[in-house]
This record gives sequence, structure tokens and C-alpha cells, in this order.
Amino acid sequence: MQRRALVVGNWKMNGSIGFAQTLAAAVSAGVAERQQSQTLHCDVILCPPFTALFAARSQMTAPHLFLGGQTMAEQANGPFTGEISGSMLEDAGCSHVILGHSERRTLFGENNALVARKMAAAFRVGLRPIVCLGETLAERNAKQTLEVIQSQLAALFGLLPTADPERSQWVLAYEPVWAIGTGCHATPDQIQEVHGFIREQLRAQVGATIASALQILYGGSVTPDNAAAIFAQPDVDGGLIGGASLKAEAFLAIVDAYPKKI
Ligand code: PEP
Repeated sequence: MQRRALVVGNWKMNGSIGFAQTLAAAVSAGVAERQQSQTLHCDVILCPPFTALFAARSQMTAPHLFLGGQTMAEQANGPFTGEISGSMLEDAGCSHVILGHSERRTLFGENNALVARKMAAAFRVGLRPIVCLGETLAERNAKQTLEVIQSQLAALFGLLPTADPERSQWVLAYEPVWAIGTGCHATPDQIQEVHGFIREQLRAQVGATIASALQILYGGSVTPDNAAAIFAQPDVDGGLIGGASLKAEAFLAIVDAYPKKI
């Protein structure tokens, strides 16, 4: 099964509106250029901070370039000071939302059950969730990686929509916590082992057709230097990029690293 790859830029809590406009415009120009020269082999998603979503969107004119939020509330609306709902993201032009990023889990107390409820809320408003999974260094050292991934996934399976078309509208991102922002990425073999395991779990839970259509991204210190080796793994369908997404040149070099698998 051929899967359209995705390269997602997670800008985190960085930059002004002016910075977002400049960066989004540069990425958009680069994506359009690659589209025109037929060298673009993936879709690209930018996830700016909430305050810059609309401004970034105004610069994103290239085909295959989409907007995403970095998190959202599980509630639809109401007295939840400081929160942003899925329909607000959708209203700002988002098609995707990152959920369960390890920074949300470790710094803001999000657990597997809450991430699953947010995923269900995203589906309800037609947003495509990009759900992050991953083990800590202590868990990897204790050889618990697959067990951790399995329990993170199990929570999600319980709240997946039942209709087939919706079940294929999500994306998973394997992001080992120890590799995020550390400059120390997982090896291609470690990544393929976990991605293969995720695909197997998907097969058992949602069936072979949907499992082979779902995109599984890798995130954790991806750079232009290591992206090609990571993206060459058979179950890696793109990347979730933090630090390197804040510079158009580096981010576009990672986009270029995606092989022509499709
Ligand atoms: C991330 O925050 O999702 C991430 C992968 O960050 P970095 O690329 O900086 O490790």
C-alpha cells in the first residue's frame, strides 16, 4: 500500500506574528517550487502557535501545504479559560492537530485517557489528529518501549470512531521522549522496530487495509543530515519536526529528504 508521506513542522511556543508570516511564506514558496518541478514527495503541515495561526495561513498558498494546531481542548466550547477548541482551530484554517505531544504529557499532565478524549473531539469536528506516542529513556533502558507504546495505543483504540472512513483519518507519530530536542535521534533500526510494531497493532485493531493506509511519522531530533536514513525505513511515512522546522532552509531540506516511495 502506498502512503502519501507527511512532514510536519511543530513550531512550539516560538516566534511573533511577523516571524510566523516570514517563515510560512518561505516554506510555501519552497513547497510550490518543488511541486512545480515535481520533486515534492510528501504533504507538508505547519503548526504555529495559536496566535499566529491565521497570519501563517494567509501566507500559505502552495498546494500540499496544510495548517495544524499544537493541541486542543477536549471540550467543544464554554467556560474553559485559556483553552482552544477543535472547532476554533478548524475556523482558523487548520486541517490537523497534534495531540499527546510528550511536552503536553510531561509538563501539563496529559495522560493516555485525556489524549484519547481529545482525539475523539478532533474527529467530531473533522480535524485529523496527529497523535504522539513514545517512551522515556528510563522505559527504553528497562526494555519497556513496546509495552509503553502498546498501552498508549490501547487507550486510543477505545475511542476511535466506528465508521471506516473516519478510522483512516488519523496519523500517529512515534516520538521517543529522550530524542525530542536533545540532538540525539533514535537509530533507523530502533525507529523501524517501533513503527513495525505500531503497524502490527493497528492491523490487529482496525484491520489490514486501514493499518496499511495510516501514516506513522517519526519525531525526535530530525535534521537535514539524518532525515534520509530515517525516512528510508519501510514503515516511516514522514517526520514531526521541532527545532529544525524554525528555519525554512533546514525544514525544506528535510522535505527534500523524503524518497520517492510513492
Ligand atoms: C517535537 O517537538 O515534536 C520534536 C520532534 O522536536 P525536535 O525535532 O526539536 O526534537
